[in-house]
Amino acid sequence: MVQRQIEGRGIHDPRVLRAMRKIDREAFLPEAMREFAYEDSALPIEEGQTISQPYIVARMVDAARLDPADRVLEIGAGSGYAAAVMAELAMRVYTIERHPALARLAETRLQAMGYGNVDVRAGDGTLGWPEAAPFDAIIIAAGGPRVPEALKEQLAVGGRLVMPVGQTPNHQQLIRLTHTGKDGFDSEMLDEVMFVPLIGAQGWDAETARGRQECTEPTRVPAREARPLPGLIKQAARRLPEPGDESFADAF
Ligand code: SAH
Repeated sequence: MVQRQIEGRGIHDPRVLRAMRKIDREAFLPEAMREFAYEDSALPIEEGQTISQPYIVARMVDAARLDPADRVLEIGAGSGYAAAVMAELAMRVYTIERHPALARLAETRLQAMGYGNVDVRAGDGTLGWPEAAPFDAIIIAAGGPRVPEALKEQLAVGGRLVMPVGQTPNHQQLIRLTHTGKDGFDSEMLDEVMFVPLIGAQGWDAETARGRQECTEPTRVPAREARPLPGLIKQAARRLPEPGDESFADAF
């Protein structure tokens, strides 16, 4: 997974690659999804949410240039997978999840794995975690219409914020904001990406986000309800090329 999906796509920081090799993605998935743990895609988890594609996790932590002494804020703990990767790369990780059930699951998992340097909280991450601010890096794992002001305020000078921002349903630009000075921010566009919506006071409202999710292509959008495995397979299935075709091996 790491060699083909991550190194193969141009991520070369040895610390990032080591962290990605170390964290077992399987351990963050519901039982029925485990056999797909090393697939090159996001996968459905509890509460109709998703675990990010491994490459995207690597891309975001790489873009945030995490240093071993850093204090990092993550918005959208989800399964806790990305938080574990960050916990390998930084000193302390604070992560917020909107769904209390997911927050509990992620916390239990991370504790069982021995990550004493991760704090999990249930709540609206668009407001940040003011008591623990400022942060050297902020990583937002859900797509919003703009960078929440509260998060900009909680970014240390020199800090990096990585977030998918976009006006269209589940399609965003991954951007990096660097806090350069008192009120100065540098913004860079990194990639075209697809994330689940950031829902909260400084993100989308739940109603709009639901409408937005429903009107997008079903194969590319995570199921809102946990669906049985055969349905998920049917939804993701694609026809194989003819066996003699040169693209057969890859597709197969
Ligand atoms: N980092 C996760 C990926 C999570 S997907 C992983 O590695 O598994 C994005 C998550 O963001 C979802 O779990 C969703 O519930 C959460 N989310 C959406 N809006 C949020 C908000 N305002 N505050 C906190 N979490 C939010």
